[in-house]
Amino acid sequence: MVPPPTILASRGDLRRTVQRLGAELSQAYPSGVVLISVLKGSLLFLADLCREITSPVTVDFLSISSYAPGTGRVRIVKDLDLDISGRDVVLVEDIVDTGLTLGFLLSELRRREPASLEVCALTDKAARRILPTHISFRGFEVPDVFVIGYGLDFAGRYRNLDLVAGGSLEVLTTNPDAYVPHLYGITTRD
Ligand code: 5GP
Repeated sequence: MVPPPTILASRGDLRRTVQRLGAELSQAYPSGVVLISVLKGSLLFLADLCREITSPVTVDFLSISSYAPGTGRVRIVKDLDLDISGRDVVLVEDIVDTGLTLGFLLSELRRREPASLEVCALTDKAARRILPTHISFRGFEVPDVFVIGYGLDFAGRYRNLDLVAGGSLEVLTTNPDAYVPHLYGITTRD
């Protein structure tokens, strides 16, 4: 028997978190902001977040690929379409784990001379941080487990769950579908 995953955020928790972050961003950027989403994990978060912001939002996308997982050595495989120089920019992340990827992305974006550059992250796995990172707009902290759902995947699975759950990387590596029976078809609305 596979130990069940833990529900870290229900649909209601996610909605409240995204509403709060949307209000914080609306207040911080009354004349508008560019949201940059790192594909594909932050897609669902971005889609909900931008609708909670009451000032004008422009969105753009980046896609990266790791040279070696866990090293923070990444390269951009799809670059921004927008020129962000002189713009107020917020990098929207699904999860900050070691912080190495974020560190790379921030230095890359800073070279393009935005007027300002901040981070909005849905989840923060702070216990695993290697590179200290300031997250100006932070959803919620998650424990040191493998996080799936609401955009976050394992081998392409679980992204469409309207909840965030934590499980064992070992279990998922043995069977990527191990948590399907636990997480699909359940209701966490609250
Ligand atoms: P970093 O360790 O550089 O902060 O995280 C790099 C990337 O690894 C994150 O942007 C995310 O795509 C992925 N990642 C890290 N931890 C998790 C996790 O618990 N679940 C999932 N699905 N992806 C993760």
